Amino acid sequence: MPDFAAGGTPVFRFAPSPNGLLHAGHAYSALLNAEMARRASGRFLVRIEDIDTVRCVPDLVAACLTDLAWLGLDWERPERRQSRHFGDYDRALKVLARRGLLYPCFCSRREVAEAVAEREAHLGSPWPRDPEGAHLYPQTCRSRPPEEAEALRSAGAPYALRLDMRAALTEAGPEPLTYFRVDREGQDDGRVACDPARWGDVVLARRDVPTSYHLAVVVDDAIQGVTHVVRGRDLEAATDIHVLLQRLLRLPTPLYHHHALQTDSGGQKLAKSRGSASLADLREAGLTAAEIRARLGFS
Ligand code: GLU
Repeated sequence: MPDFAAGGTPVFRFAPSPNGLLHAGHAYSALLNAEMARRASGRFLVRIEDIDTVRCVPDLVAACLTDLAWLGLDWERPERRQSRHFGDYDRALKVLARRGLLYPCFCSRREVAEAVAEREAHLGSPWPRDPEGAHLYPQTCRSRPPEEAEALRSAGAPYALRLDMRAALTEAGPEPLTYFRVDREGQDDGRVACDPARWGDVVLARRDVPTSYHLAVVVDDAIQGVTHVVRGRDLEAATDIHVLLQRLLRLPTPLYHHHALQTDSGGQKLAKSRGSASLADLREAGLTAAEIRARLGFS
């Protein structure tokens, strides 16, 4: 395992997307990051992942920081806010575009669904899905002639930028894509082999936002010198894409720890969309920060 600490101080980050209020699952992740940073005599950063400027309104960003401070966390200020760094993501996109690894995709969700249904009917078998259960993009726009794409662009048709996964894997070269996992004590927990192809031609710049979660997270972890990425298991499979992007952009691969997710009494993972209680709800119901920390297994 590479010894990041040998080159300087370990750097940890908690990176919420404030498109809703934080719940106990976020609290667990933030507290674990802070604890691991403390044990490693490392730095602890908070990064606001607000590329979706429509959903991540200023009130939610402020509420998120209030909740983290209420939990007793202390982090370096100012926090990096992704919405202020679109230029950094654009530079990375240009690097990939120059190498012919991106293509514009003009498909709407409905068009993708229709193309998938057509292929399923033709093949008589289900179309493959990515690790999150979404159908792989059927590459409708991959073979679109460049003049046609240009004409659509100049006519103002909205488009996303997709990674040409096959070209990207060729460009990545024969050396296997892997990363090192650490346990919550920060000790070596094995090397993980990546298989980014299972995600297909992922979107690196959305139609409505000039970047995507995958691209922004990789660029920011590098810019901020993050050595340890500690986050939920729901993002474990996405790490394969991140390691590929790090290789393509010649950025270092941090160490990763993917922790178990907090669940409700029915065993479902906590989620804003499922109406899980927010930290603000728990606070209003009279719980103290110390009680929440104790419930989550922190002192
Ligand atoms: N912003 C992401 C989320 O809230 C987490 C990003 C990460 O930790 O890599 O799900």
